[in-house]
Amino acid sequence: MSAFDREFTAIDAATAARLDYGDEYRALRTAVRRWARERIAPELDAWEAAGRLPRSFFTDAGALGMLGFAVPERYGGPGLRDYRCHAIVVEEIARIGAASCAVAVSLQNDVVLPYLTDLASDEQQARWLPGVASGERVLAIAMTEPGAGSDLAGIRTRARREGDHYVIDGAKTFVSNGQNADLFVVAARTAAADEAGAADRRGGLTLFVVDGRTPGLVRGRNLAKLGLHAQDTSELQFDAMRVPAADRLGAEGEGFGQLVHHLPQERLSLAAGAVAAAEGVLVYTLEYVRGRTAFGQPLAKFQNTRFVLAELATGLDLARTYLNDCIAEHLRSALTPARAARLKWWTTELQTKVADRCLQLHGGYGYMREYRVSRAFADARIQTIYGGTTEIMKTIVAKDLDL
Ligand SMILES: Cc1cc2nc3c(=O)[nH]c(=O)nc-3n(C[C@H](O)[C@H](O)[C@H](O)COP(=O)(O)OP(=O)(O)OC[C@H]3O[C@@H](n4cnc5c(N)ncnc54)[C@H](O)[C@@H]3O)c2cc1C
Repeated sequence: MSAFDREFTAIDAATAARLDYGDEYRALRTAVRRWARERIAPELDAWEAAGRLPRSFFTDAGALGMLGFAVPERYGGPGLRDYRCHAIVVEEIARIGAASCAVAVSLQNDVVLPYLTDLASDEQQARWLPGVASGERVLAIAMTEPGAGSDLAGIRTRARREGDHYVIDGAKTFVSNGQNADLFVVAARTAAADEAGAADRRGGLTLFVVDGRTPGLVRGRNLAKLGLHAQDTSELQFDAMRVPAADRLGAEGEGFGQLVHHLPQERLSLAAGAVAAAEGVLVYTLEYVRGRTAFGQPLAKFQNTRFVLAELATGLDLARTYLNDCIAEHLRSALTPARAARLKWWTTELQTKVADRCLQLHGGYGYMREYRVSRAFADARIQTIYGGTTEIMKTIVAKDLDL
């Protein structure tokens, strides 16, 4: 058994005990792990060079049963509402350092699909859900705008009702899966903030599900980024885009509440990816410091190396326990927004620290693209920003403390 497998087997055993994983979960974890190592890892450089994932990535994931767990059987899914499956998929992909792929899969399973399974009518589900579990239909969510990120109440994209359609004008940015997506959940204003009441800036937001081929939807640049090079994070433009009123999710003005309701699961998945990615880079670094010598001895023999890695391993133990606790709470529908916020900021900040310290232990080689730790460092940096920044998470926690 390799050092990687030894470490991960121990982590998985602790997780399995805590979360009551049976054989079927172990089989899923083994299948995702094999897929990640054999099919993703060898392709990652090419996908990064292309700036996006190929569509075959999604259909492969679908064929292996890793997408759309919550899609009912009549629409091609297993109809399984069990977050443990989601966590296993994200963790195994993040552990090998394929963060762009983890983001893509997490959007499909954890972030966007819940809007469709929880909020769409039967008639809407019949139109939107087929193809999600097979990976033939890729999902994305477009909330952020050039002028509104943390402050979602500042969204300016406008949806004007015209008969049985809405006409939507505006611009979105930083949309993950933006080039690949077939369906976008779009947040737009059906009433100006002041119409909704000056005291209620959050009113007047409404969600729509928009087909990627809708006339007036213009896919803009696939943005160049510090990391996540295989993610097609994109700009979108809506120029008098006509969306049938039948494609509205819920009622007008419910958008803000719908977004806030679904954010804890997104944050839980970001934390699962953060902990797993950091575990992966730590194990990789343990191997490196055992093999590299300086001053006639392995790096692993220097007290600094030992203390740094001991500290990171301890932090990751805590993070894993905390994460598993939050997953258990989520399985009981008891994960609060404040607890998800605590978990998200703490684990993602830890991930950036682990990646940074591990890169340092690699010396100059850590700065080279061909070393996995450099990708881990660049990919980790966004984790404390998207899905709600560390600062916004702390405002949620502080509010929960009645501050
Ligand atoms: C790679 C990537 C992928 C993304 N994917 C998506 C996606 O798929 N869909 C989508 O809709 N969005 C996506 N986003 C957008 C992401 O969620 C936002 O970037 C994030 O919410 C922060 O918003 P902002 O960039 O406008 O920063 P700002 O809101 O302008 O924040 C700038 C700084 O000010 C701080 N700040 C803001 N408000 C406060 C406050 N009240 N108190 C203290 N500090 C504050 C922030 O913490 C931050 O440090 C993505 C972003 C990136 C970079």
